[in-house]
Amino acid sequence: MNTQPQTSSTPVIQLRDLAKAYQAGEVEVKAVRGVTLEIRRGEFVAVMGASGSGKSTLMNLLGCLDQPTSGTYLLDGVAVANLNRKELARLRNRKLGFVFQSFNLLARTSALENVELPMFYCHPLVPLRARHQRALQALEKVGLGDRLHHHPSRLSGGQQQRIAIARALVNQPELVLADEPTGNLDTRTSIEVMGLFQELNDADITIIMVTHELDIAAYCKRIVVMRDGRVISDRANENRRHAVHERTALDQAERQARLN
Ligand code: ADP
Ligand code: MG
Repeated sequence: MNTQPQTSSTPVIQLRDLAKAYQAGEVEVKAVRGVTLEIRRGEFVAVMGASGSGKSTLMNLLGCLDQPTSGTYLLDGVAVANLNRKELARLRNRKLGFVFQSFNLLARTSALENVELPMFYCHPLVPLRARHQRALQALEKVGLGDRLHHHPSRLSGGQQQRIAIARALVNQPELVLADEPTGNLDTRTSIEVMGLFQELNDADITIIMVTHELDIAAYCKRIVVMRDGRVISDRANENRRHAVHERTALDQAERQARLN
């Protein structure tokens, strides 16, 4: 496997005519039908589209969780199709961080241990102390430095999603893939989570996020829209929302309401 660091001009993602068909009994479902796309370091991309338009399928392909039927995928310049299972697992662990709608945390395991988990799949193994240290730093980064030993079940949805984001970051990935990360959160908590993503993106982490809500896509720098497995629109988001400002405004409004 080519493990050389790629030059900064290498796109993180290069897709050419990528397609995925599922065999559902007798019928073939063409979930993704020829997507050509390039995503560079530091981008923050929203993937939008109606239910069934192929967003999750595309994310699974990007995350190397599924193989395309045809087309090519270069991740950080590496042709994913040429890797064997072991190389693929390693690539996924080192270069990708995942955030899901339903958090996917271990319920009876502390926040710290949840965040340490991806480090158990690293080669060479990360020593115990370093594991603790890195998990701690990741949790501090998402504002949960005071919840290290809490079980996710005792935390709010927003806090659980922040643990999941810390877990996604702990191996310092090239790219974070998030599928409907605010789908189970209320408006205020969604703004908080988007604020966190914006902060991470400001620190040069590349993020691709699926959402079907325009309000949420509005925080991203670029918006890609899918329909029937194809990209039908791809544009820069000129009127980007900034969660930090909105959070301050919300706080002020609430303080005012309490005073009245
Ligand atoms: P979205 O995330 O935009 O809602 P999906 O990527 O989940 O869309 O689905 C795209 C299409 O592929 C849909 O028609 C869906 O029913 C179909 N599909 C997704 N996963 C499978 C699967 N494992 N087997 C068969 N069909 C699937
Ligand atoms: Mg989906």
